Amino acid sequence: MPNLHREDGPIEGARTLRRADGSALEVVVTLEAEHDAEGALARWIGTWVPQLAHSVAGDLDERLRLAGAVFEHALEGIMVTDTSGKIVMVNPAFEEITGYSAEESVGKPPRILGTSGADRAVGERIVRELEAAGRWSGEIWNRRRNGEIYPQWLNIGAARDAAGAVTHHVALFSDVTELRASEMRLEQLAQYDTLTGLPNRALLFTRLEQALAYARHSKTLGAVLFMDLDRFKTINDSLGHPIGDELLVAIARRLQTHVRAGDTFARLGGDEFILVVEGLTAAGDAATLAMEVADTLSEPFTLAGGSTLYASASIGISVFPEHGNDAAGLVRNADAAMYQAKEEGRATFRYYTPALTAAVNLRLEMETRLRGALDRSEFLLHYQAKYDAAGKVTGVEALVRWQPHDRAMIPPNHFIPLAEDTGLIVPIGDWVLMAACKQARQWLDAGFPTPIAVNLSNVQFRSKNLVRRVREILAESGLPPRLLELEITESAIMEPVHEAVAHLEALRELGVRLALDDFGTGFSSLASLKKLPLHVLKIDQSFVRGLPDDKSDTQIVRTIITMAENLGLTSVAEGVETAAQLSLLRELGCRSFQGYLLARPETAAAFATRLGLPAAAYGCTPPVVSESASELPSDTVLDSIVADSDSTKAATAIEIAEIVSRYSTVD
Ligand code: C2E
Ligand code: MG
Ligand code: MG
Repeated sequence: MPNLHREDGPIEGARTLRRADGSALEVVVTLEAEHDAEGALARWIGTWVPQLAHSVAGDLDERLRLAGAVFEHALEGIMVTDTSGKIVMVNPAFEEITGYSAEESVGKPPRILGTSGADRAVGERIVRELEAAGRWSGEIWNRRRNGEIYPQWLNIGAARDAAGAVTHHVALFSDVTELRASEMRLEQLAQYDTLTGLPNRALLFTRLEQALAYARHSKTLGAVLFMDLDRFKTINDSLGHPIGDELLVAIARRLQTHVRAGDTFARLGGDEFILVVEGLTAAGDAATLAMEVADTLSEPFTLAGGSTLYASASIGISVFPEHGNDAAGLVRNADAAMYQAKEEGRATFRYYTPALTAAVNLRLEMETRLRGALDRSEFLLHYQAKYDAAGKVTGVEALVRWQPHDRAMIPPNHFIPLAEDTGLIVPIGDWVLMAACKQARQWLDAGFPTPIAVNLSNVQFRSKNLVRRVREILAESGLPPRLLELEITESAIMEPVHEAVAHLEALRELGVRLALDDFGTGFSSLASLKKLPLHVLKIDQSFVRGLPDDKSDTQIVRTIITMAENLGLTSVAEGVETAAQLSLLRELGCRSFQGYLLARPETAAAFATRLGLPAAAYGCTPPVVSESASELPSDTVLDSIVADSDSTKAATAIEIAEIVSRYSTVD
């Protein structure tokens, strides 16, 4: 090479090469020296670049012709706008991608390209950046002429005149729909199970970590249900893998329809599935879900070939946050519980902790028994007398009892919450109302018009049919409405107050009396109390218990009595156990008293005796275990009371019910 020097820097020079067809090609050749470890020259590396630009540099027409060809044939959409923001030029690719022709677009602002109002903020950001940096690139969503929304990769740059002032903006964009779709397919492959389309182990663990973090943060409960199909291996081995796969898909489909939005139903692999649920109120709720799953699976599966298969699953449950520090731990523990379920006969569920399983099973057993209790006539009523200051019986409260044939009697606090949860409270409450009204009618017929109070659960109070049912029961039993008093609790009237008022008014129109039970334990304000059409205010036993020594209890009771007086309501003190309590309550102006001191809840027969009736004739219920500590059929009872040391003993509870109530919520 003629004019090259052996120097260390790159050497450049122009050359004319000859193509095979004989035509000349102007190139720029660059030579670069490479040295070995000792610094001696090892070799030269040469590159050459055709001097295209140079060859047409002087020929403006030629450059324009080439630029035009690029514009016409580019696969990217190109749009040129002027400084007033109007489109001045678009290329064929633009027309193809957007669906707008050149005639439709030129002269209009780019906004016509369907960028919606929501994207205005994006548009403003682009303009700001263009002004600052002269270019912008990024992905945006746009709308085609046919309304279809699509992702586009967009580059915008400024074109300047000789003086450097911006004259136009050039936007180049490509449709990246396909790219995004294949990315999504990749993501789908990475996170979802190919056979069933359910989330796979990887996605499950991500979601479970999030759910666990959320549960810790918000102090809520969640559960991992690990299900393993029973005898799936047998199906696979005897009927073949294709049938096994088909069954797995069918099971996944069916269970998926039962999954609430927000919960995760995943396939771990093989015949193992996992359901992650969040926002449980009690750990025991997970068992309900497990049973729903079992129920759902119990319907036979009909496969494409026409064969029918039956499936069942063993389910292990771990509850979070307490049964594991992380997703892996929760799944492992649910897995361990699942093995327990398998060992104990399959088609069942187990919790990670045996105590929880035991508690849930007790509750389930109790629920089953409670469901049959009405049919087996296992409910009965006890009656607790109310006295006035003169020592006269002014009324009676009906208190329900559950007496299973083969077990000890169960007090209401142990089964009413369960009855409320399961909806059984409605038929049970109905029975109570009817039984109480019939009993009171019998006493009325015997010449003792005794007002009878019946407790309503919140669930009952809110039920649409309540007013109609009360009316029907009054008619059927023949009890005059004024002899029925309905006791509701403060929580029932809390929210929304106006609905409660409407409900109470409808009841009041029937002519029944209305009492607010356990008053003082809720948060009803004086203002809301004024709006309620009530007759009676029952002071909760927790305040009465502190009398006469506790100053604040005394003050509260005094205030409630005065308030009742001012609102024209009768005050009744509950849980009066000592003579001292009674005498202070009388002093404070309380109208009516109820408590072990005066009378315990007792059988209908015992209460009839209290009224002065022959028990045999006027107690509907056969005499069962009476809670009556002592017989107190005396008019002068109030003046001759001796405190009964044993009177505070609560009614009999059976062990099972206690365990159940202890485990019914986990905190
Ligand atoms: P409640 O309506 O406040 O009934 C008063 C409770 O206090 C009764 O308990 C009664 O036995 C008890 N008691 C009465 N005097 C004394 C006393 O001097 N000392 C003490 N320590 N306790 C006394 P019981 O019968 O176990 O009922 C508990 C709760 O169960 C009732 O509270 C009521 O809320 C509910 N309940 C009872 N029967 C029914 C019913 O038929 N339907 C509904 N929905 N709830 C009911
Ligand atoms: Mg009550
Ligand atoms: Mg009460």
